[in-house]
Formats: sequence, structure tokens, C-alpha cells
Amino acid sequence: MANKIKKIFGIDLGTTYSAVACVDEHGKSVIIPNAENQSITPSVVFFDGEDVIVGDVAKENTKLYPNEIVSLIKRSMADPNFLFEYKGKDYRPEEISAYILRKLIKDAEQELGEKISDIVITCPAYFGINEREATRLSGEIAGLTVRQVLNEPTAAAIAYGTMGNSEDKVILVYDLGGGTFDITMIHAKPDAIDVICTGGDKELGGKDWDDRMIQYLVDEFQVTTGCKDNILEDIDIWQELQLTVEKAKKTLSQREKAPILVTYHGERAKIELTRKKFEEITQDLLDRTISLTHDMLNEAKRKGYHAFDDFILVGGSTRMPQVLLRVQQEFSSVKPKLFSPDEAVAKGAAIFAWKLSLNDELSRRVTEYTEKHEIALSPLEIPEEIAQAVADEAGFTLEAVKYSKMAIRNVTSKSFGVLALNQDNEDRVVNLVLKNTTVPTEITDSFGTHVSNQETVEIKIMESDVSDKEVKPENAIEIGTAILSLPPNLQIGSPIEITFLLNGEGRLEITAFEVIQARQVSVTIDTSSVIQGEALEKAKERSRKLVVY
Ligand code: AMP
Repeated sequence: MANKIKKIFGIDLGTTYSAVACVDEHGKSVIIPNAENQSITPSVVFFDGEDVIVGDVAKENTKLYPNEIVSLIKRSMADPNFLFEYKGKDYRPEEISAYILRKLIKDAEQELGEKISDIVITCPAYFGINEREATRLSGEIAGLTVRQVLNEPTAAAIAYGTMGNSEDKVILVYDLGGGTFDITMIHAKPDAIDVICTGGDKELGGKDWDDRMIQYLVDEFQVTTGCKDNILEDIDIWQELQLTVEKAKKTLSQREKAPILVTYHGERAKIELTRKKFEEITQDLLDRTISLTHDMLNEAKRKGYHAFDDFILVGGSTRMPQVLLRVQQEFSSVKPKLFSPDEAVAKGAAIFAWKLSLNDELSRRVTEYTEKHEIALSPLEIPEEIAQAVADEAGFTLEAVKYSKMAIRNVTSKSFGVLALNQDNEDRVVNLVLKNTTVPTEITDSFGTHVSNQETVEIKIMESDVSDKEVKPENAIEIGTAILSLPPNLQIGSPIEITFLLNGEGRLEITAFEVIQARQVSVTIDTSSVIQGEALEKAKERSRKLVVY
């Protein structure tokens, strides 16, 4: 591909492993191997003096340096209480994730011999507003331009070949990764990808299967040796078992049994774990994915979708043979397919990124063209000569270039509302935007002021998984406060209209309006969940100075 058209890269920033991909000169989406020549990089960060080491070396050192190593950081994205302290400095999840991105980018730049500046990062479909923002900020801290935060199942569906397809297809994407489970229904049309419904659990993934194995080994160790100690209190043993069980789990995906040696304070136990036993002790975890799938399907029915054509399995944990078997049993009408479990998301993100870059180029040239010829064109009209020129330059077919004008319509994976008092004077979350509404969406509701001459209103913005109009506060989380500065001299009960605008990427904007005198109310949103202000600048500065290996 000629280099005039800016390349945008796709990144799967995973809980346990991450990957980077791009569309190559043959128009194929390919994973770019890391410096260790592997297609995926463990999302493990090792703070080693002045350096930061990411990937395999970090993972291998978890046992030796348990207090200097951070794993599973994605599970803590936008958690205001998460701080990793190293040498008197505090690191938030955004900054630690930025180091993972920097390792991926550095290795990819070395492999390709070119500079990378723009990326598309994926995140689980059910990530809320703050987690999405935190993901975007990780890229910013890493010195990158994040062009889009794309949902993982959408990326997987794109890689599966839905874009540019002439058929209309409804696809279920079952994504079981290292730390998260996502289930999404997608309607792929020739010119658009519509996400219909999404569900999942951000606390359910391969890691939970590992934890069950660890508990089993601990119990078996006690039975075999008679030792009554809780061996997990020994941090070294705990770290070692984590690596051991992940290996054993992968063995069990290939073989019927895995021999495991547990040693503790001179005592040794050789434990043989069979696939049958492994499936038995983790049965409920798998059942939970099925139950979440049914919940999502029921919600899809309410939207008029009663069937699906394809069922694809992505995410490393779908390699466990019981997953495919269970899904086959449960949904016998369609044959589920295991689809490139570790790479699908990054590859799909790369295809999406490639379309973004072609689109940028087309838009730039169409603007030039309209200015030069002093004509107006609709956004979808691309003069043939421009499409052909971009195709020639990019080395793609004219068809492929035309397909880059594809729409992706998402749904919100959460409900958003405000905290208010109901008629019985009880605190209630009043949902303005309901889960699984197609975005962008804009909803306005009206509230009254409490006292005369009220100067400010503080509105607690609440996020939940509940699709009802009214929710008890304990079933929602507060994601921020909108502070409204009201105009002067308002009477008690003056109506204030509040509008929630959720954009296509799932970012929330809030505007407010004082109705009687038709005055705009200024709104600022305050949140402690994502890094901002001085802390953000400090993180960027630190990242610039740090070498990541
Ligand atoms: P992902 O987040 O999609 O990269 O998935 C990573 C998860 O997949 C981790 O929990 C891995 O232990 C798990 N995994 C990867 N390969 C296998 C395998 N062959 N068998 C079972 N689990 C696997």
C-alpha cells in the first residue's frame, strides 16, 4: 500500500493478553508479532526500577516479584479505588494500561519499520461510560491518537467477514476471554452493522476457571499430605499455582488429564486433574454464560429478533472443549463455530481502522473536489474518479473502497439515569436512557427546583444494568456528578429540562435548560473514576520519560 494514506492500527487490549493488527499490502488483516515473535502479548506489567517490562518476561517474573507486577488491570478500569504504588508513586489503571499499549506499539513499529500514531482500541461491549473513557485515556497517555473505542464483539463480527457481505445475517458473538464474558447479537447488512443487544459479565472469564483449579489443588493437597495450612497465604505458592493451573488448563484442552505437582514447605503432592473433574468443578461458570446468553436472547426478542443465523465463539477461553459442546447442546438449531479465538478482535479492529483511514482520505478529497468545482455533494456521494484514485493509491479494488462507507450502529450496554426522590420521598434512580437503546440517542426529562433562588443543582449520574424506568439506588453505581449553575431568581419548582446525549461510541454529554425564561444552564461533569487534570498530565509526562520493554 502506498504510504500517503495514513495507516490506523487495531488493538485488542485484553484482560490477560493483548494484540495489535493492521491491514497489509494485500488487503488482509494480519497480527503484528511482538519482539518475542508471538502474536499475543500477556497484559502483565512489571515495574523494574526505572524500567517497565511488559509481556512474557513480566508474566514469568510474577513469582519472583509479586509486589512489582500488575496483572488483570482491565478489570480495574475506571475503579476510583485502584492505585498501584511503586517507589512512592501511585499509578492508576489508565497509566498501567498505557504501558501495555506502548509495548505493543513499540514492537509493532520495530517489526514494520514505521511510526504508529493512530489506533482503534477495543473494549468489552458492556463497558460503561467511565471504563470506555479510561480506555481512551490509556491511549492518550501512551502518546497515541485513539480514533475510536470499538466494541470487541463488533470487531470480532467484522473479522468474521460480515463487512462488505451481500447477505443479511444475524450473528451471535460469544466472547469468553481471560477476565470477561460478552454475548452480543449483531445484524450484519450489506451496508451496515447493527448491534441489536448485548449482555455479559465483566467478572467472568478464564481467570475464574483458573481460580477453581487452584482451590481444587489446595483441597487435594490438604487431603494428600494432611497439612492443614492454607497454602495460598504463602504469596509465592499462590503465584506459582496461578501459572501452573493456566498451563494445566491448556493441557486439558488437548488431553484428558493433566499431572500437577504442588510443593509447600517440603511437602509434595502429585495431583492428577482429569478433564471430567475440571468440567465438574467449573460447571456453574459455564452455566452462567449460557444463562446470560438466554437473558440477552430474551431481550433481543423484545426487539423483534427471534432467531439467528450464525453463532461464533471468540476469546481464548472458548478453546476449552466443553464450551463448544455446551453451546452446541443448548442451541442445536445452529452450528456454533470457533473463530480465531485469540486474534479475531484485533484483526477486526484493524479492518475497521483501515476503513476509517480510507474514509478520512475520501472525505479529504471530496472536500477538495467540492471546493474546486464549487458544487455540493451528499456525504455518501463519492465521485468515481476520487474512489478510483484512492483505490489505485491504496492498492485496493474500487469495490473495497466503496464499502468503506459502512455504518456501524451500536446499542448502549447500560442504562443511565439520575438520582431523584419519588412520590413517597424515597431515593430512586430514574433512568433516562435504557440499556440496549441504539446510540446515538438523546433523551430529555424535566425536574423542578427544590427552593426559591436555587443557585446550583447537583445531579448524581447513575449507571446500571437494569432496563426498568425506576431502579433502587443500590442496584446502580454513581459514575459522576453533573453540576448545573442555575440562572438567578428562580421560583421554587421551576422546571429544568435535562438532556442526556449518548454518542455512537457510548460517551455521555449532558445539557440542561431552564424552561420558563428559556435559558441554557451550564453543566460540568465531575467524576473521580477516570484520571483527569493534573494526574492525567503527570501520567503523560511519566509515560514520555519511561522506557517500556
Ligand atoms: P483472551 O482474553 O481472549 O486472550 O483469552 C485469554 C484466556 O484464554 C486466558 O484465561 C487463557 O488462559 C485462556 N486460554 C487460552 N488458550 C487456552 C486453551 N488452549 N485452553 C483453555 N484456555 C485457554
